[in-house]
Amino acid sequence: MEDLQLRIRNPEEEYVRSRFREYYGKADVKAPDEVERREFGFGGWERKIEVRHLHVGNAEELKGKLAMEAPLFISYSVAYYEFPDMRPMERKNWLGADVVFDLDSDHLGLPCRKRHGTKWVCDECLAAVKDESAKLIEQFLIPDFGFSKNEIEVNFSGNRGYHVHIRDKTVKKLSSYARREVVDYLTGTGIDFDSMDFRNVAVSGRKEKKLLGPSPSNPAWPGRIARLVSRLVAEKRLAEVGVEEKDAKRIYKKSEQFLKSVREGNWDVVKLERKEEFWRNVVGRLGVKLGDRIDQNVTADASKLIRLPDSLHGESALLAKRVKDLNSFDPLKEAVVFGDQPVRIKIKNAPEFRLGELTFGPFKSEEKELPEYAALFLLCKKEAVLWKS
Ligand SMILES: [Zn+2]
Repeated sequence: MEDLQLRIRNPEEEYVRSRFREYYGKADVKAPDEVERREFGFGGWERKIEVRHLHVGNAEELKGKLAMEAPLFISYSVAYYEFPDMRPMERKNWLGADVVFDLDSDHLGLPCRKRHGTKWVCDECLAAVKDESAKLIEQFLIPDFGFSKNEIEVNFSGNRGYHVHIRDKTVKKLSSYARREVVDYLTGTGIDFDSMDFRNVAVSGRKEKKLLGPSPSNPAWPGRIARLVSRLVAEKRLAEVGVEEKDAKRIYKKSEQFLKSVREGNWDVVKLERKEEFWRNVVGRLGVKLGDRIDQNVTADASKLIRLPDSLHGESALLAKRVKDLNSFDPLKEAVVFGDQPVRIKIKNAPEFRLGELTFGPFKSEEKELPEYAALFLLCKKEAVLWKS
């Protein structure tokens, strides 16, 4: 345990850690199930995981460690091990693993990312990643996998997205292969358009064949295709699945007829050029966007460490909060835990950002007195230093 101590490197880290320490001294951070079988990792100013292979015997010990160490990041293994602190990994003896999905707004390919980069978030990308998380739960995990709402736990990641945890004993023993299959199913990898109930049918008196397809009441993927497309049409969001504006407009113009005919399995009410190819492309983009390959591996990879729910995130000073009602959850408000006593900082560079009810910035090379939660946010983004006159 000699390497457990995280080194403090500068006054900013010292200040942030002291505020985190005070928070952990009072907060009631719940330990994960079977805490003694998990591997923990603590992070500091430089890296999100600076020390790992840590073993925590029980919930009390975890609380004590957090209050004493005040790490800037706290992660634990989705896997359960007989010997969590052994290394290399093979000696830990893998006993099983939770299923956790990582949804990150940075992976959604949104236009706002060009504006604010990967360091910042805005209401737009947080709304989109929330929507994607709701889609995962409501369109896949509940109807197709049969999980109930109380087996699914959602946490704000503390920064750019959400973590969806499945708390069900039967998933713990799933092999890597099975986890891979689950991910492929969710992301729609290998979804074969031709087996999704689409077919061209000859119509008497008409030269062109008619494209029939799934209806919303069909089970599994075919029904989902009809439901998701209907929703995207009704909400005028076809651009999200790569539909060009001229085609989208054509569909929106006849949206009522379109929705009605799709309910009957007729996908041919709006005339589209190369219609089969058109719908093939749309269908290819309907899966849950779990991110790039690294994050897909996250789910399949049993050695993954994930943010501890209700712990603080060292890049934002926001809480990786457990979400009770995803629909109404506002991360930039509900994950704020620090107070509003003024803190003097020198800000380097920051776009306009919202926290709670207030909007701050944009800032460029200026000295400011901000409420503590906003000052900590900028210090954690490394776009501010303490201002001592
Ligand atoms: Zn954004």
